[in-house]
Formats: sequence, C-alpha cells, structure tokens
Amino acid sequence: MRLGPYDSSDIEVRSSGGGGMRRAGGIGCGTIVIALIGALVFGLDPMQTIGMVESVQQQAAPGSTSSASDMSEAEVCAASEYAGEACAALASLNATWQAVFERAGIAFQRPVLDLYRDGRVTTEGCGSATSAVGPFYCPADKGIYIDTSFYDQLAQMSGTGGDFARLYVIAHEYGHHVQNITGLSAQVRKQQQRNPAAANRLQVAMELQADCYAGMWAGRNRDRIEPGDLEEGLAAASAIGDDTLQRNAGQRVNPESFTHGTSRQRMAALRLGLESKDDTACDVFFENG
Ligand SMILES: [Zn+2]
Repeated sequence: MRLGPYDSSDIEVRSSGGGGMRRAGGIGCGTIVIALIGALVFGLDPMQTIGMVESVQQQAAPGSTSSASDMSEAEVCAASEYAGEACAALASLNATWQAVFERAGIAFQRPVLDLYRDGRVTTEGCGSATSAVGPFYCPADKGIYIDTSFYDQLAQMSGTGGDFARLYVIAHEYGHHVQNITGLSAQVRKQQQRNPAAANRLQVAMELQADCYAGMWAGRNRDRIEPGDLEEGLAAASAIGDDTLQRNAGQRVNPESFTHGTSRQRMAALRLGLESKDDTACDVFFENG
C-alpha cells in the first residue's frame, strides 16, 4: 500500500521499553471474553454496535510504573522501516475513522500507538506484557501496542513479507479502539456476564468486526492499494484463523475454543469491509442473536 506523507501532529506515538516489570497475564488479542449487544437487537444507532474486544485485564501490575521512553514521536517513527510504516498507517487510519465518526455525529478520540521495544512493555492501563502476546489494544489507556519484532513472525506465518499483512494488523487493533470509544464495550461486558453461554460467540463476532473494519479502511483508501496487497491481507487473515492456528499447533480443531474465528471467516470479514467500504456493513457479525 502506498501510504502518503503525513503530519506528525496528526498522530500520537510513543515507545515504551521494558523496565523489568513483572508480567501480567491475560493480555492479548482475544484473551478475555467480551460480549457485544448488536444494534440490531437493541435498536441503537448503528455506530453504537461497534463494540470492543480484547479487553485486556485492567488491573495494573502492583508497583508498576509507566515507562515510556523519552523519544519524540518523530524519533519513534524514524526508528525503523516498520515504525515509519506504522506511523503512516496510523495517520491514515485516524483520517479515515475521524470522517466516519464526524458523519455519525459521535465524538472521536485518537488512539496512541506504542511501538515498544525489548519484548516487554508496561502499559498505563493494562499492566505489563511481553511481546509473546502479540499486538494488542488496551482500552483503559486507548493504546495500540505493537512490538515491531512481531512483524517478522507474521511474515513467516503468512508466507509473505509484504506490507499489507502488517497494515492489516494495525488496522485490526484500530478496529478495537473504534469498538471501545463508541462506548459499547461496557454494554458488551455486561451482556457477556449476563449470558456466559454466548460469551465466546460474541468474542468471535467482535474480532470479525475488527477484521471487517480493517478491510473498510483499506477499501476507503483503495487508490493507495498496490497489486498483491489484497492477497497478502487475505493470506494473513487465513494464517491467523483459529482453526489454522490450532491445526498448526498439532491440536484438534475445537470451535468451542475459538476466539477470533476461522481462517475462512476472517478472510470473509476482511473482504466484506473492503468491498462495502461501510462500517455499518460490519455489524453483520452481531445479527442472528
Ligand atoms: Zn483482535
């Protein structure tokens, strides 16, 4: 994808380091189960169906302190090719989503991108994590946390070293930010507590909606898409489907334990966003209950 130049005042970026904090459990894409109530069920504004996921455990590790480095935004973005690309993607995501929120008449807030290093991060709102958890979103501090070393792993998993797989990841996490700031997340959690039997299904729906949002962003920036990008995104979506991950780990495929959806579902969700370019189309995952 050809992401254009951007103004650094349009993004919030930082880099937190290790700091020897203890590791908090439960951080990661799909660790915690959240539920979502669909607008279609409750008749809310469609934008309100944007829920949230990946609610990371909210208690901070005891004694932890924030350890953001002193690097300026420009320095963080210039630290590596991956970082520069992520900053450009963030600027584009901000612009795309701000317009969506404005049109819907909902207050918009930007997320903070934390390109942390050294395999370990202490978040402001979600305790500590190691890079083993993969990229994640922390609703409490509205931070998208990515250890850029994850991208090397992703290239192996998806079999492509292309940029679009990386952009898909950040756009997916951004989708969780969108789900958070619309305020549905609290409703979702409540709903899950009320109905534990539906919790897993709702968790999967949240993840698929985030995939769809990632596709919507790309669809709305189609003029910047290069040949091969979509295939790369679909390959990445396929590689991180729950069934494929379980199979590759030598496990029996067990739909009960899915948290993000199958490879086929994830590819379909990404494609739906791409083709519709419409965030409300991404509410479909919450229909039927
Ligand atoms: Zn996710």
